Amino acid sequence: MFEKILIANRGEIALRVQRACRELGIKTVAVHSEADKEAKYVKLADESVCIGPAASSLSYLNIPAVISAAEVTDAQAIHPGYGFLSENADFAERVEQSGFVFIGPRAETIRLMGDKVSAKNAMKQAGVPCVPGSEGALSADPVEIIKTAKKVGYPVIIKAAGGGGGRGMRVVHTEAALINAVNMTKAEAQAAFGNPMVYMEKFLENPRHIEIQILADQHGNAVFLGDRDCSMQRRHQKIIEEAPSPLLNPKIRDKIGERCAEACRKIKYRGAGTFEFLYENGEFYFIEMNTRLQVEHTVTEMITGLDLVQQQIFVAAGEKLKFRQKDIELRGHAIECRINAEDPYNFVPSPGKISTFHMPGGPGVRIDTHAYAGYTVPSNYDSMIGKLITYGATREQAIARMRIALSEMMVDGIKTNIPLHADLMADAAFHLGGTSIHYLEQKLGIGHK
Ligand code: ADP
Repeated sequence: MFEKILIANRGEIALRVQRACRELGIKTVAVHSEADKEAKYVKLADESVCIGPAASSLSYLNIPAVISAAEVTDAQAIHPGYGFLSENADFAERVEQSGFVFIGPRAETIRLMGDKVSAKNAMKQAGVPCVPGSEGALSADPVEIIKTAKKVGYPVIIKAAGGGGGRGMRVVHTEAALINAVNMTKAEAQAAFGNPMVYMEKFLENPRHIEIQILADQHGNAVFLGDRDCSMQRRHQKIIEEAPSPLLNPKIRDKIGERCAEACRKIKYRGAGTFEFLYENGEFYFIEMNTRLQVEHTVTEMITGLDLVQQQIFVAAGEKLKFRQKDIELRGHAIECRINAEDPYNFVPSPGKISTFHMPGGPGVRIDTHAYAGYTVPSNYDSMIGKLITYGATREQAIARMRIALSEMMVDGIKTNIPLHADLMADAAFHLGGTSIHYLEQKLGIGHK
């Protein structure tokens, strides 16, 4: 087992990984930007290294700085968390070439799955159903593009092959708007992801977002750890996640789960990962794979009793999975609300100093946050300041506990989306078993971009 792990991330996930390491007796190195130097979790780590100024491009995305920090602290492995360098194949490669273990899949797997066009092709070959759309990347010829859209059928969605975080997507309802939309998405994709390649999918009008968590070791074993429903979204980004999806029965879940596990064996996947699907009229359509830990891994932990970060570490250290599919039991129901420093209804970020910070508690309540009273939320990074997770024997109990927890939670000094979560926990459609991915924006009266 490793003696020391460097955590190449910040915020709640840096603390989450640190906790997993401490429980295993592994020492931790926190790397941080100048903006995060006073954060409490940085001080809780065994060692810390400042890797640059506040701008992420100069710190958390600075590959040589992260690797130098691992060198000077003699760390053996690097955990990338989510976001930042976690799905950067060049980083994974550089880490391993420099003699460290990357806690995640092999660089070539990240590369394959990081390009959504090649990921869809690989999944088609592995027998995983995909959203109907263009065969690979869109051609540069407008006549061809128009033909493809006619075949797929409007509305269509133009998506960047290198996209992520809900960005680089545009819905098109008519032929008149098509070419302009393709060109705009291409230009945005080039600017944001350095890759202008785009592809087309049928825009599904009433789907749920359902994903399968998988875990694979380096000895050919792969299991799936149930599903999560992440349909409550704004701007193609999740804000509430739950496990299991109220929509699936065990038979359907096991069938799609086993396909994902089989796809992992085929591509020799290593570590934790997620297959994301849209689910409509009883059919699953693959949209992408995330080759890393996800924000919402917590709800899976609550219903499986497994610590996913520790499982990632065991696999990275070369250990075999200690359980088989039949040993995995999904028990109860868990819900996660992402707590963001933002206006609850127009989502404008609200950085600044937190004055009051009172967290809820009681049975079945889990809080993953790096924030505290007196903490200043920097304006440089993502607005998520923590996650509130509740667990119950049933979905109703998990919702009831979430409502109570949200009513107890107090964060002042900045705006947060706690009031929105409180509204949604009282929403009739959510109670009845959840909603489609477009529900929240329709409820708030915001159209698709
Ligand atoms: P990202 O990598 O940016 O997260 P995804 O491909 O995972 O992009 O899509 C994110 C979200 O965008 C989905 O959960 C869904 O809400 C929406 N979306 C993506 N593809 C489609 C589609 N074909 N039809 C309808 N909505 C879609």
